[in-house]
Amino acid sequence: MGQLSQSSESASTPDWLLAREAALLAPYAMASAHSRGRVHPEPPHLYRGPFQRDRDRILHCAAFRRLAQKTQVFTGHGLGDYHRTRLTHTLEGTSIARTIGRVLRLNEDLIEALMLLHDIGHPPFGHAGEDALDDCLAGQGGFDHNAQALRIVTLLAQRTPRYPGLNLSQEVLAGQARRVKNSVANPLAGQSGLLARIATVEADVVDAADSIAYDSHDPDDALHYGLISLAELNEVPLWALAARQVRARHANLDNRELRQAVVHELINLQVVDLIQTSQARLGGADVTATDAATSGSGVIGMSSELTELCLGLERFLYERVYRHPQLLSARSQFEAQLRTLFAVYLAEPELLPPKFQIWAGTFGLPRAIGDYIAGMTDRFALAEHGRLSGG
Ligand code: MG
Repeated sequence: MGQLSQSSESASTPDWLLAREAALLAPYAMASAHSRGRVHPEPPHLYRGPFQRDRDRILHCAAFRRLAQKTQVFTGHGLGDYHRTRLTHTLEGTSIARTIGRVLRLNEDLIEALMLLHDIGHPPFGHAGEDALDDCLAGQGGFDHNAQALRIVTLLAQRTPRYPGLNLSQEVLAGQARRVKNSVANPLAGQSGLLARIATVEADVVDAADSIAYDSHDPDDALHYGLISLAELNEVPLWALAARQVRARHANLDNRELRQAVVHELINLQVVDLIQTSQARLGGADVTATDAATSGSGVIGMSSELTELCLGLERFLYERVYRHPQLLSARSQFEAQLRTLFAVYLAEPELLPPKFQIWAGTFGLPRAIGDYIAGMTDRFALAEHGRLSGG
């Protein structure tokens, strides 16, 4: 792909959008007029700003639609269909992030684009799939779903014959690039210096909203499926605090009503605390975007009290939910199936679709297989495993 350029849509951002953002956005927000633009310059759109176009490109790509059939935490096998999929997690996170962004007067279009993008690189079967691919690709720098999202939007997705990928704005690429831990598999690793300088408060909000979403919905799903009990959760201080607040408003709730009310209260507690804490930190008269978003500045965040409570809940979820024997056994089964699939394609590359056979010529066979498997839904991966392994 081309180097990141400094082409900008700002000179031709529609007047109505400039006026709208000038009236609504805070000085530390990422205004569309200040976008560094796209690698491949494009004429402006009459009715949509650059980050609206980014959001729409992500929303309309196949990798986004496949989130509907990908595991967040629960696969549903033998459990039911109550749980969040990666798509509904993404949408819950988007709603939370936009609420925060609107109050803090940030660019909601950029927030929405970043949140819709953040999980599209996940392989089937959640972290089990990620671990399997990371092992299979150990000799090629491993696998990281955050880097995979960048591979999709810069290389794999094809929306026009003029360039590979979605040609997203640099602020969107930068927001995703900073999530990547594994630089080897990151297609933008060569540009990490430039991208690191594009820090936005909007990306901080997206990270926070992602955590708020799963800290709230994972206990709900785990309770519904009976992996944990209300009594166990009542030992967790954040859950107990939310439950006290619910009981103060409503007497005589049954367990199901209580669970749902506490989940809503958990989201509300975290969002309100994050907004108020961040507002106080942003209240300084001359906070610039760079001050506010410099990595590790901690401007966007919750109070130390609530941060501690959230960590307690996350520790509980890690020990009692994510490592629940029932999930671990499904997890090892799915990991084994993906390893088998990988080995079958490695031994017989002609089984790959033609696009990925060509891809192997450019990026090597193992990475091409990784890209193909990462793009599968849970259902497709199971069917493919059944078909190719005869099992
Ligand atoms: Mg997420």
